[in-house]
Amino acid sequence: MPNPVVAIVGRPNVGKSTIFNRIIGERMAIVEDVPGVTRDRIYSKAEWTNKEFHVIDTGGIDLGNEPLFSQMKQQAEMAIDEADVILFLANGRDGITGADEEVASILHRSNKPVVLAVNKIDNHEMEQLIYEFYALGIEDVYPVSGSHGLGMGDMLDAVIHHFPEKEEAEYDEDTIRMSVIGRPNVGKSSIVNAVLGEERVIVSDIPGTTRDAVDTVFERDNQEYALIDTAGMRKRGKVYENTEKYSVLRALRAMERSDVVLMVLDIEEGIREQDKKIAGYADDAGRAIIIIVNKWDAVDKDDKTMSEFEEKVRDGFQFLSYAPILFLSAKTQKRMQHLLPMVKQAADNHKLRVPTNVLNDVILDAVIMNPTPTEANRRLRINYATQVAVGPPTIVLFVNDPELLHFSYRRYLENRLREAFQFEATPLKVLARKKN
Ligand code: GDP
Ligand code: GDP
Repeated sequence: MPNPVVAIVGRPNVGKSTIFNRIIGERMAIVEDVPGVTRDRIYSKAEWTNKEFHVIDTGGIDLGNEPLFSQMKQQAEMAIDEADVILFLANGRDGITGADEEVASILHRSNKPVVLAVNKIDNHEMEQLIYEFYALGIEDVYPVSGSHGLGMGDMLDAVIHHFPEKEEAEYDEDTIRMSVIGRPNVGKSSIVNAVLGEERVIVSDIPGTTRDAVDTVFERDNQEYALIDTAGMRKRGKVYENTEKYSVLRALRAMERSDVVLMVLDIEEGIREQDKKIAGYADDAGRAIIIIVNKWDAVDKDDKTMSEFEEKVRDGFQFLSYAPILFLSAKTQKRMQHLLPMVKQAADNHKLRVPTNVLNDVILDAVIMNPTPTEANRRLRINYATQVAVGPPTIVLFVNDPELLHFSYRRYLENRLREAFQFEATPLKVLARKKN
């Protein structure tokens, strides 16, 4: 089930992005390795005491020409819409300002838990500065220093304490949860309508459990599907709904709750930077992915059109080499009939469990074909392989020294596994552990 979401709010310059970077810590570096993901990350996975969550820096969502005061209010509202826990930041050196009071009053009107972190308390002597902040009416108040990394542990303990109890599973385990993501105007709503048009919608507009997502559940060929958060695609009229970063955020949240992600491109427009950004997040989320190239009806074609565009897609999204590509037209319904069978197959592959003995045979054969690498006269030895998880399939290799499993050999093994088993559309994790 989806990880809890923590949103950071507060007026400009209190230290939101500093605290955000502290919270995500090491992860930043890892995530930046994904090609196409730019540095202006405002959303990331994080972990504290073995609890995973997502954190959003609402200060990074630029609302264009809006006056700062109104941006701040919108950011607070966005946090209320999106988060399970709100981390409200103030500047201990400034004392309470009118803007802090304004944000506090917006937060009070929601029933989301709030933790107040009073920042820039760079030493113990300054801790007394936090007392006046109790006047904002928030129970959990913590002194922190983002730049020195002080107080982060107590603050995060308090945040985690407010995480919701494990939610009941929203859907039956067999229900395939899918979401449609992509830039504005690529045809997401049209695809959703084309899918639903021919289906009997059994239950529509079920409010998502804790959030205001609206899913649609339907059935085809005895298989139940849940289209996640189609409401996120309706224009709801809040100013921030149309900002690029917010729409990426929405897509991320939908992906979190999905088994299969349909990443939509517009063949007329080609591939844009924003497409790459969204795809980078999709890969990071570990969901099965199908790339849909929409508006096939709108281009002049010859027998090379498809393979040429396919090459562009492969070139632009090298990290998604496992994702199948489907060309279609939501408008004329051309090739729409392939969509759900592909989704079903992708979901099956995402949950595929391979027998341990066959897995070990494949690894053994791969090693015979292409011996393991050596480094400083030490050779990587793989003793045993086992699949430890599905969704995505995760394979652990027990080896003499995990450091010896380099990227290229890992990639080689991954390719052999993909040849041997049905892993199309799904990412595959191959991890090395030291054999004890
Ligand atoms: P944001 O606008 O709320 O995202 O704030 P930033 O994270 O960009 O920080 C604003 C300024 O405050 C920067 O110059 C930071 O270096 C500084 N800053 C952030 N945290 C601390 C802190 O704990 N102590 C001190 N002294 N300065 C800090
Ligand atoms: P969304 O913003 O991604 O949900 O995109 P929409 O579904 O609202 O579609 C954006 C525009 O593209 C609309 O004008 C649609 O009519 C048009 N459109 C969507 N699918 C197709 C298609 O398959 N072919 C053509 N020619 N136009 C399409």
